[in-house]
Amino acid sequence: MFYFGRVWGIIIGFALFFFHFYYPNQKTIAYNLLIIALFGLFIVWLGSRYDKANNEVDRRLKTENKLKESEDRYRNLVELSPLAIIVHQLDKIIYVNPFTVKSLGASSNEELLGKSIYDFIHIDYHERTKHRLKEVLEGKDIGLTEQMLIKINGEVIYAEVSAFVMTYSEQNVVLSVLNDITDRKKSENKINHMAYYDALTNLPNRYNLDKCLLEALELPKDSHRGFSIMFIDLDRFKMINDTFGHGFGDLLLQQVAERLHSIIKKEERIFRYGGDEFIIIIESMKQEEVSQVAIRILGEFNESFNINNREVFITPSIGISSYPEDGADKETLIKNADAAMYFAKEKGRNIFKWYTSNLNNTFLEKMNLENDLRKALDNDEFYLTYQPQIDLSSGKIIGVEALIRWQHPRLGLISPASFIPIAEETGLIVPIGKWIFKTAINQNKEWQKKGYPHLRIAINISVRQFQDSHFVDTIIQALEDSQLDPQYVDLEITESVMQNIKESTVLLKQLKRIGLYLSIDDFGTGYSSLSLLRNLPIDNLKIDQSFIYDLMNNVQALAIVKTIIDMGRNLELDVVAEGIENEHQLSTLKKIKCTYGQGYYFNKPLSKEEIEQLLMENISYLMYK
Ligand code: C2E
Ligand code: MG
Ligand code: MG
Repeated sequence: MFYFGRVWGIIIGFALFFFHFYYPNQKTIAYNLLIIALFGLFIVWLGSRYDKANNEVDRRLKTENKLKESEDRYRNLVELSPLAIIVHQLDKIIYVNPFTVKSLGASSNEELLGKSIYDFIHIDYHERTKHRLKEVLEGKDIGLTEQMLIKINGEVIYAEVSAFVMTYSEQNVVLSVLNDITDRKKSENKINHMAYYDALTNLPNRYNLDKCLLEALELPKDSHRGFSIMFIDLDRFKMINDTFGHGFGDLLLQQVAERLHSIIKKEERIFRYGGDEFIIIIESMKQEEVSQVAIRILGEFNESFNINNREVFITPSIGISSYPEDGADKETLIKNADAAMYFAKEKGRNIFKWYTSNLNNTFLEKMNLENDLRKALDNDEFYLTYQPQIDLSSGKIIGVEALIRWQHPRLGLISPASFIPIAEETGLIVPIGKWIFKTAINQNKEWQKKGYPHLRIAINISVRQFQDSHFVDTIIQALEDSQLDPQYVDLEITESVMQNIKESTVLLKQLKRIGLYLSIDDFGTGYSSLSLLRNLPIDNLKIDQSFIYDLMNNVQALAIVKTIIDMGRNLELDVVAEGIENEHQLSTLKKIKCTYGQGYYFNKPLSKEEIEQLLMENISYLMYK
């Protein structure tokens, strides 16, 4: 095909040339030769032109075919694509592929064509979409962006979108390709929720708080008016958990979270920080405004909670710090709010306190003490002292009270009044109490083995131990190990156990069955009523030392002590007067027929060797008769 014209040109040229030689004319031969050659060349040129034109048509035909083929291929690709493809001019949709129709829940593409893309984009995403579209039209590569789309039926789906500008009908349009990532997004959201929300209360958790605080702190200083952090801790929550079980405690925490949620305003945010700790961020640092919130919270907790048909009261202690005054970073702000909360606890609980700079020292001391206390048992830093209890009629030692001491490696001797409350709060009192009990009864057994008169050893039991589910077993085991007769063990329990009278009665009866002697310590300061006492298997009342201290100058104290002694006698209970410091107190007590006494007047708490010395001397305190 290609050289068709040129071939025919050459053939005709040669034909003319030979024709001329066949009929030669000598004169004109040279001239004719030239003419014939030129004519031949002309024919060849014509032939090549013909070839060229022919080739051009051929090529065009081929290209057109190719174009059609590729257009078909692309149309198929777009139409059958598992990605949603939308072409829009500004925001007006001018083309959608079938997958878009399906993805947006439309019945046909007519339902979408001509509409605005914003009809299908969640309002929260409108602004950023406008911004991105502008960039696309400027020819910028925006990469993949995330969109929240609304289907025809209102359902929300998520898509990853890439967009670029192209020409269509001689106009600039945007082609957007959307990949449905709803499933991935849902699992992402779920994971996100799990990471940033507390499973029990569904409140934002500690990580969420960190994130929020970081965001708030990143804002330029002049763009917000500061904020406050309210640290809320429930008072005696551990006790509820230990008494009624963790399931009960969890239900209470859920109700507390709900109640807190119902109290705070929209712009305030609440987080569960840990066990029974909650944090509220308040967009204000004005003391009056924030204090009002705290007062509101405290007020709401006056109402009881109903858990499994049981009425429970719980109170919060609240500490507040504010930004920027009390800290420039989240750690400091939380730490200071926490310190203020601790201060609120120390000041009697169920109150709120603002952070002040001098709080930190107190808090640090306490934190350090708590850390040291955890190690004290392993490091053998505890020891027991023993304070004699005297029979006021015979003057003889009838027992000793075991009192714990902590020899701190750095701080020296620490009184139980300082560390027992911390041990109770942290639950450390359970292992420490176990050690006290074992040491005390082993000591008593040792004295008996050495041949000293048999004494009853009084051991203080804190409420927290009393509520421990292994308490009775621990006691039985220790008694078995020591081989000490239980009648020589006196358990001192405070009146606070009466608050849970049902459970306490069961437990006290169990202890009584073991054969232990049971005392109520610090009697008169709590709330036990006579009628309650009557039903409890109690052996002894220890009158609180504050009444003994006041005996001399306070008639009321005398009346109370006398009533307790008379009541004891009626109920056939022993009565011990604690804190006898002088002769006047002793003689008064004897006059009103108190049976037993204990106090510095006789002895301070002594070491085991000093007790042995006393027992050896067989001292009688009859001289006080
Ligand atoms: P408590 O059980 O009422 O013990 C009596 C406290 O009064 C002891 O203080 C004792 O040393 C002190 N005391 C004795 N006679 C007098 C006196 O004449 N005047 C004055 N002012 N005080 C006197 P201690 O040893 O500092 O213990 C304080 C509290 O710490 C105890 O009060 C008890 O509640 C607790 N505690 C002490 N040892 C233990 C223990 O081993 N376990 C538990 N759970 N608590 C303990
Ligand atoms: Mg005691
Ligand atoms: Mg006492």
